[in-house]
Amino acid sequence: MDLRLGVGVAGIERENGGFEVAVEGGENISTETVLFGTDVKPRTGLAEATGLEIERGGIVTDSSMQMSAPGIFAVGDIVFAMNEAADSRQKVEHWGEALNHGRVAGAVLAGGEAAWNMVPGFWSTIGNRTLKYHSWSGGWDEAKFVEKYGAEGEAFTVWYGKECVGVLAYNAEEDYEEGRGIIEQGAPLP
Ligand SMILES: Cc1cc2nc3c(=O)[nH]c(=O)nc-3n(C[C@H](O)[C@H](O)[C@H](O)COP(=O)(O)OP(=O)(O)OC[C@H]3O[C@@H](n4cnc5c(N)ncnc54)[C@H](O)[C@@H]3O)c2cc1C
Repeated sequence: MDLRLGVGVAGIERENGGFEVAVEGGENISTETVLFGTDVKPRTGLAEATGLEIERGGIVTDSSMQMSAPGIFAVGDIVFAMNEAADSRQKVEHWGEALNHGRVAGAVLAGGEAAWNMVPGFWSTIGNRTLKYHSWSGGWDEAKFVEKYGAEGEAFTVWYGKECVGVLAYNAEEDYEEGRGIIEQGAPLP
């Protein structure tokens, strides 16, 4: 493996069926494959400038998605929101939570009562492989790996925390679904 650390990419050109990557400083690297690992950051500057509470890079909200000023709501990746079941604020960046936040904020804005109280989860499919994950965002003390053989063939589940705080399921849909309730109750690992 040949690493260049702390340098930027100046340009990428297609070359002879592969790529020519120009690295800042003048070096060119020929390669067959270019893989991007990218990040996104919430833009909290406007909220910060108006004096709204910001913590851990997110706009602080209560569990009704209301910011520190009454009547102003925020949802999705940008929030550091109170979750009733976790009894703590959570920074979560999954599309399903953006939807859940939106439902809560919408219900409250329409005059109803609603609170964000579900454990965050996401799934990603790469090729024919699907990983599903539910967890709080505060880390874990112990992990238990369980190998399985499901209807889809190879499968596994990782349970996180002595008192369950997360579940990662590969071809183990039943554990992903069961895990939600176990995590929300903070029950011991199954
Ligand atoms: C590469 C990548 C892969 C991901 N994969 C997964 C996955 O597999 N599963 C999963 O659950 N989540 C995944 N996510 C995370 C998921 O996409 C986000 O959690 C979700 O999109 C958050 O929704 P949002 O509405 O909060 O923000 P966004 O979807 O980012 O929407 C914000 C919108 O606001 C617009 N905007 C910004 N500033 C302004 C402005 N000043 N005026 C007007 N509009 C503005 C933006 O253009 C954007 O359209 C992935 C994210 C990335 C980057």
